[in-house]
Amino acid sequence: MGNRSERETGDRPDDHGYGEGWEELRQQTLRRDGYACTRCGADDRTLQAHHVVPRSAGGPDDLENLLTVCRPCHGVIHRSNGAFDDVRDDAPLFPDRTAPAPVARMRTPDDQCCSRCGAQRDDPTELVAWTDVPTPADGRETDHLILCKPCAGLVLEREPNCTRGSLSANHRFSTHELASRRANAPVRPSVFASPQVAIRREPRTARERLVDDTPLRFAVNHAGIRWAMLAAIGYVLLMLVVSL
Ligand SMILES: [Zn+2]
Ligand SMILES: [Zn+2]
Repeated sequence: MGNRSERETGDRPDDHGYGEGWEELRQQTLRRDGYACTRCGADDRTLQAHHVVPRSAGGPDDLENLLTVCRPCHGVIHRSNGAFDDVRDDAPLFPDRTAPAPVARMRTPDDQCCSRCGAQRDDPTELVAWTDVPTPADGRETDHLILCKPCAGLVLEREPNCTRGSLSANHRFSTHELASRRANAPVRPSVFASPQVAIRREPRTARERLVDDTPLRFAVNHAGIRWAMLAAIGYVLLMLVVSL
């Protein structure tokens, strides 16, 4: 390998043991992808060839298994690889809408979860980002909050600081679309919801009033808490029996 390729590939997470043909294959990958990152479209950053199926899992060194990504986006894909910690934040929050599935993910795992209801959305087109978020009273500053589309519809309606202009995504969407999905937002925000978006929706049905708007929702909606409650009740009953 020449100096140039060593410099460009030296920070790959898995560049040990790459054979003679690797440099040529890497160049073929970049050429096929138009010398642009397949996640974000950048063509002005260090470009690397990413193994879709990792070599460690038997992924072959062939074009079918390789995608061109810029170094920051490579870091998004290799989330726990410390070699990318300095550049990961430079990757755009959203992948391009045209990004192939193996690289079409949000910048961080947190960015895949709605900051109001906590639901995880693997499809980035189901998410929007609120970008000029006011700092709440507790002082924790944030430069963006991710919302699922139903919650975005609710926040847009109820929170004056949230406007259409401050919402962004990787595709075109309308306020009408968000408003039409508002009724699907959970009645109560998650207990972990960010304060700026911890908004309650008016319940519409009896079930929403009796379950979704009361602590009963924890028992009904979350298997883990349901088991914890059963265990607690069992424990109390056991104590009663023992004390008799
Ligand atoms: Zn990129
Ligand atoms: Zn949500």
